[in-house]
Amino acid sequence: MSEQQNFDVVVIGAGPGGYVAAIRAAQLGLKTACIDAALGKDGKPALGGTCLRVGCIPSKALLDSSRQFHNLTHMFADHGISAEKPKMDVGVMVGRKDKIVNQFTGGITMLFKANKVTPFHGFGTLHAGNVVKVKQHDGSEVELKAANVIIAAGSDSIELPFAKFDGDKIVDNVGALDFTEVPKRLGVIGAGVIGLELGSVWKRLGSEVTILEALPGFLAAADADISKVAAREFKKQGLDIKLGAKVSKAEIKKDGVHLTYTDAKGEQSLVVDKLLVAVGRRAATKGLLADGTGVKVNERGQIEVDEHCHTGVDGVWAVGDCVRGPMLAHKASEEGIAVAELIAGLPGHVNLDTVPWVIYTEPEIAWVGKTEEQCKSEGIPYKTGSFPFAANGRAVAMNEPAGLVKVIAHAETDRVLGVHLCGPNVSELVHSGVITMEFKGAADDLARICFAHPALSEVVHEAAMAVDKRAIHKAN
Ligand code: FAD
Ligand code: AMP
Repeated sequence: MSEQQNFDVVVIGAGPGGYVAAIRAAQLGLKTACIDAALGKDGKPALGGTCLRVGCIPSKALLDSSRQFHNLTHMFADHGISAEKPKMDVGVMVGRKDKIVNQFTGGITMLFKANKVTPFHGFGTLHAGNVVKVKQHDGSEVELKAANVIIAAGSDSIELPFAKFDGDKIVDNVGALDFTEVPKRLGVIGAGVIGLELGSVWKRLGSEVTILEALPGFLAAADADISKVAAREFKKQGLDIKLGAKVSKAEIKKDGVHLTYTDAKGEQSLVVDKLLVAVGRRAATKGLLADGTGVKVNERGQIEVDEHCHTGVDGVWAVGDCVRGPMLAHKASEEGIAVAELIAGLPGHVNLDTVPWVIYTEPEIAWVGKTEEQCKSEGIPYKTGSFPFAANGRAVAMNEPAGLVKVIAHAETDRVLGVHLCGPNVSELVHSGVITMEFKGAADDLARICFAHPALSEVVHEAAMAVDKRAIHKAN
């Protein structure tokens, strides 16, 4: 055992919560260390967490490759473009994804160097008195002590007891990002963000994809008008989404994975070549906390924190997927920045009410703020305005007319309460809603801003005007 090393801040986890917190703390002049246990596909330490290694970035790389292929095989003919027998080389596609992952995980190593953050590669355990013991990959142990410890341990895939991951036939996101060929039949358990995105990737490349979802409604977290349009578009694409279908058994046999599920009609069966289990993620707290730290973990396995991400134990903070709130990379990063700033004596705050959500399917789905259903159940008086992409010149010129934007505003104050989008590039368009809400803007503010023409963002503008029944390019 080497002697204790002292830091101002020790961060456990180098995902978008942890590495961002570490960089911000170092920028503010704090002597900072960041510990991460993860290894890349090459067996070497890889910083960046779930997001960079096996989440946001690699999934978007495959979504883009599969989208290009789908466009070539299904969409280009409308533009007068044809190609003879297009083929997809899955090895090249996955190799491109790996290169992007390496570029970004390597980028964090460089950012740590540039900002003088000291990395430790190994597993960290918090002990009482803000001591973190790190079991490094070479078997050695180091002990770090800091006035402040930020836990950013992230999350792991939830495993179903009857469908254990075998890394080949039954996989989570890690396996589904690395298939070596297009599975003929892909089963997905869970029609959440990850199931829909990865299901879309392989569907576009030719898989027969069946998504089994236990809940009776589709995308219940989204506004009902948005999930309705999205469900219709996914159906047109041939994504078979079975709702109210609870899977209870998955057996690996010679001819594939045999699934048993129950729906309204009773017990059903389905055989697939690969099964992606995407039933959610759980805070990664196993082995993280030694006895006596005083840090509390709730019944969902999350570390308990207050609105400032403080655990209630002096100098111990927690951010990102391992605490309450949406499991999203940008939410983790904003919390990381806020905590680093609070430690440095600056004001730091994250408004969870204006965190945008995006699902990178085709069409994309995005939203910020309250849905119409939430306004109703909370008794908030509201009015809405919506506008379809089909009436927008740019969307039609792009041949992507599906979807709409819906703005929800307070009935009396006109303040924007939520913006809900489904359509082309809405992952970008949602931010006009986020900015309006952060500036406590009204639908009328959005309506009176001059938007460029022709642009997809005009749909947001028209939806805001529609709140006051004065959209120009549709009947109100
Ligand atoms: P993580 O990114 O999980 O990082 C935690 C890190 O800590 C890991 O590297 C882990 O190895 C390390 N660690 C944990 N415990 C210890 C320990 N005791 N000692 C040392 N190291 C430890 N979010 C979005 O916003 N947009 C998206 O498009 C998106 N796409 C996704 C796609 C997929 C397939 C998946 C799985 C997730 C996606 N997410 C997306 C979610 C996003 O990846 C997470 O919300 C985000 O990574 C959380 O960041 P974090 O820093 O809290 O944790
Ligand atoms: P998310 O947490 O957004 O990734 O979504 C996971 C989805 O998986 C949820 O909508 C759950 O209802 C669904 N789910 C969980 N367990 C099962 C199961 N046994 N069969 C079918 N769907 C499930």
